[in-house]
Amino acid sequence: MRELDELFIKHSGSDLIVKRDVPLAQYTSFKIGGRAGVFIEPRTTDALLRCLRIFYNNGARPYILGGGTNVLITDKGLPYVLSTNGLKWLEDDGNGTITAGAGYSLRNLVSYAIRNCLEGLERITGIPGNIGGAVMMNAGKKQYSIGQKVKRILLATPYGKAWLNKGQMTWKYRCLSFKSTIYGSSETEKGLYVIAGAELKLSKKRDNKALKDYFLCDIKKRRATQPVGKLSAGCIFKNPEPAPAGRLIEECGLKGYQYGGAMVSKKHANFIINHKGASADDVVYIMKHIQECVFKRFSIRLEPEIRLMGISLN
Ligand SMILES: Cc1cc2nc3c(=O)[nH]c(=O)nc-3n(C[C@H](O)[C@H](O)[C@H](O)COP(=O)(O)OP(=O)(O)OC[C@H]3O[C@@H](n4cnc5c(N)ncnc54)[C@H](O)[C@@H]3O)c2cc1C
Repeated sequence: MRELDELFIKHSGSDLIVKRDVPLAQYTSFKIGGRAGVFIEPRTTDALLRCLRIFYNNGARPYILGGGTNVLITDKGLPYVLSTNGLKWLEDDGNGTITAGAGYSLRNLVSYAIRNCLEGLERITGIPGNIGGAVMMNAGKKQYSIGQKVKRILLATPYGKAWLNKGQMTWKYRCLSFKSTIYGSSETEKGLYVIAGAELKLSKKRDNKALKDYFLCDIKKRRATQPVGKLSAGCIFKNPEPAPAGRLIEECGLKGYQYGGAMVSKKHANFIINHKGASADDVVYIMKHIQECVFKRFSIRLEPEIRLMGISLN
């Protein structure tokens, strides 16, 4: 057993779950991916900080996993995976400010907000995953993204934790980055950080009828236009400037295109579906094929929206 593996096992306990040789497919919406050498799940922010310090002191870096709804993990597996699923707290000040742990489910948060007459999250109805992942990806649709409602972020680094305010973050299309380094170090830039939680500012309404109506209408729309219920990771490519990626892929005649167990959705061309025990290699093959076809026809290089773990498209 490697020294670092032993260290984690020594530190495991009720607030830090450590398992070896864990199949990762079960932690992703694609149901694809090899095994994690060591799978680490802190249940508290303190345990998370302990983990980051261990990684830092040993010059190692884990892959960070949230709900696993926007990732493609290599079939070969990953050495260290740090899951944020155990950070599930939720606080509500009763005046529209809610604070949630990174592992809190986005769908549960949307339902909570609507139940409690809080406006602002209904526009991300139907997006799966956790708060940490949604914030990291600046999840959203059309003109709206979760970053618009985030007031502060609790960031964990090997040096400790800190609440970052709006001025320290840059929100872009499906991407969040941090402007300043934390604790005077450059570790955040090198990537050894985890969003432990986020504070959202919502508006308190008298009743929730309009929010419920929006929610129901949105769910209906999603069912009509997306392959809901199929194994996928959401939209595979970012939308380039001139047109939605789905339309470009569709115009290349790729709806229904298959390779191995993976297929371009017949309902929405920017979704790849694991329809028959697909491997990550099958999905990568289709992604490259799509990029080539779209480039040939439109001279546009599609960029992945999903995060590739242990995989390079080049
Ligand atoms: C059917 C379906 C529909 C979808 N529809 C939409 C949509 O309409 N709009 C949209 O924007 N997205 C959509 N998605 C994509 C996805 O749901 C969102 O991006 C989601 O919020 C990601 O959250 P997650 O917890 O699953 O993150 P993961 O997939 O686990 O991780 C995504 C990235 O964030 C990083 N990360 C995760 N948690 C943390 C953390 N706590 N700290 C630091 N880094 C972290 C990971 O390392 C990875 O790089 C869809 C996905 C599916 C399967």
